[in-house]
Amino acid sequence: MGKVQMPDGKKMACCFCFDIDAMALWLGFFRSPTANPLSRGEFGPRVAMPRILDILDKYSIKATFFTPGHSAKLFREVVQEAHRRGHEIAAHSMYHQPSEVGLAMSGVEPASPDEQRVYLEQQIELLEKTVGERPIGFRSPIGDWLGEHVPQHLIDLGFVYDSSLQGHDFLPYRLRIGDTIQTEEPFEVTWGQPSELLEIPLHWDTNDFAQFEFMGYYLDPKNPWFNPAPFHTPSQSKEIFTSSFDYCYEHVPGGIWNTILHPQCCGRDFKPAWLESVIQHVYAKPGIWFTTMREAAAAWQDDE
Ligand SMILES: [Zn+2]
Repeated sequence: MGKVQMPDGKKMACCFCFDIDAMALWLGFFRSPTANPLSRGEFGPRVAMPRILDILDKYSIKATFFTPGHSAKLFREVVQEAHRRGHEIAAHSMYHQPSEVGLAMSGVEPASPDEQRVYLEQQIELLEKTVGERPIGFRSPIGDWLGEHVPQHLIDLGFVYDSSLQGHDFLPYRLRIGDTIQTEEPFEVTWGQPSELLEIPLHWDTNDFAQFEFMGYYLDPKNPWFNPAPFHTPSQSKEIFTSSFDYCYEHVPGGIWNTILHPQCCGRDFKPAWLESVIQHVYAKPGIWFTTMREAAAAWQDDE
């Protein structure tokens, strides 16, 4: 298996992760180029990011910001400021389109394997140009992909880790490549071999969009943006986030607890206070290594 070598006195890692999806979420994913959703996307980097960066500074937490190339280009100074304050800037697609990772969604055909690689090359170049550091981590814009082109491209392009999948809840693992999957009965599966790409699994429970804003028909391009009310109250959502953390803390020593937070969601109205209350819960526990995905991946040790 292998493990993340924790610093002395630390029993688990906490990686606060944010996706700076900004306007790419609405343009590339929801295909909703009307004024209201675009303003929601713009709000993220312009208004929410300064609030979030200040909260993280208050607790001396270094976070990971998964950033689409489109966001880096459009909100260059915001991404640079996050990096200047010591946070990791990692890759999160070029335009937040499922097609970029081989999925037919949002009414768009999947990109070819070669085109998928080009999107990755473009986002690497943009992020490197923006913050002067090549990204080594990737999170798929939809937490998914089809086939093995994406992980193979990630390996070929020098990525160290991915954080899109769910083969564990808190423990990283070497991503297997070379499985064969039959897509009809009897759905036979054969196992490939572990690759050099480290998978740091995510979990949807700690996705603020899913807690506060997600609606099933967001995925319907005909009616994608209407949002009548949050799904959960702040206290219900806090209970979900902190229960997830507490389980890792009590039962999965050596684990990495991480989040899928979005500035345009958790940085709006009552939610920065909610975010801070979640941070305070985690912060109160002894033995937590607050770190970036980059640092956690660097601490990975394979079994002998
Ligand atoms: Zn995203």
